[in-house]
Amino acid sequence: MQDTLRHQGLRNQLAELLSTKGIVDLQVLHAIRQVPRHLFLDSGFEAHAYQDKAFPIGADQTISQPYTVAFQTQLLHVKPQQKILEIGTGCGYQTAVLLELKAKVFTVERQGALFKRTKLFFGKMGYRPKKTVFGDGYKGLPEHAPFDGIIVTAGAPEVPKALLSQLKIGGRLVIPVGADSQVMTLFERTSEKEFKKTEYGDFRFVPLLEDKN
Ligand code: SAH
Repeated sequence: MQDTLRHQGLRNQLAELLSTKGIVDLQVLHAIRQVPRHLFLDSGFEAHAYQDKAFPIGADQTISQPYTVAFQTQLLHVKPQQKILEIGTGCGYQTAVLLELKAKVFTVERQGALFKRTKLFFGKMGYRPKKTVFGDGYKGLPEHAPFDGIIVTAGAPEVPKALLSQLKIGGRLVIPVGADSQVMTLFERTSEKEFKKTEYGDFRFVPLLEDKN
């Protein structure tokens, strides 16, 4: 598959749609216009790639809806060169959006087949996360902490303590919290021991699972 002017046009329309749905961060909208989402999906879904919908990516997982990706990214307040930890690499679309924002991205996936496939795909596409790790995101990546931002792209029944502890002071954790449906939640680390929590409404994610399979 290729990236064509037609795809670019569809991406521009998607970015327009996201802005009408309340995405105001121009850098985030720019990243949505840049990343060729159709190349992250199986070719059977190409026609749907620029609709604002989630899709299956194999191994019972989904690529998040573009609105959700944009919403979470907007909450992260990414600045160039910041260290961002992503839990749930999946097909790598969210990773690519973070790279487009010039973040140093560390991304963790627990599902072996997806991890392998996406790592190869990054190489093929020339995407360069700092680390693409096969592991359990509940534990974060203590050896690379602290992070300016942490984004969790699966629904967490509870907030992993390890992730809070791996935030810089001033850092932001964006995490959908809940078992069946999730509340998008932002934790800002205001001091060594204190976090400010803000909730942003309901979303639906595949579950954050413990341990590798
Ligand atoms: N960011 C992805 C969304 C993928 S869906 C994208 O843009 O495509 C959520 C992903 O989280 C799935 O790939 C799932 O396998 C992964 N996941 C679930 N529990 C995890 C855990 N404990 N650690 C790391 N990844 C996990």
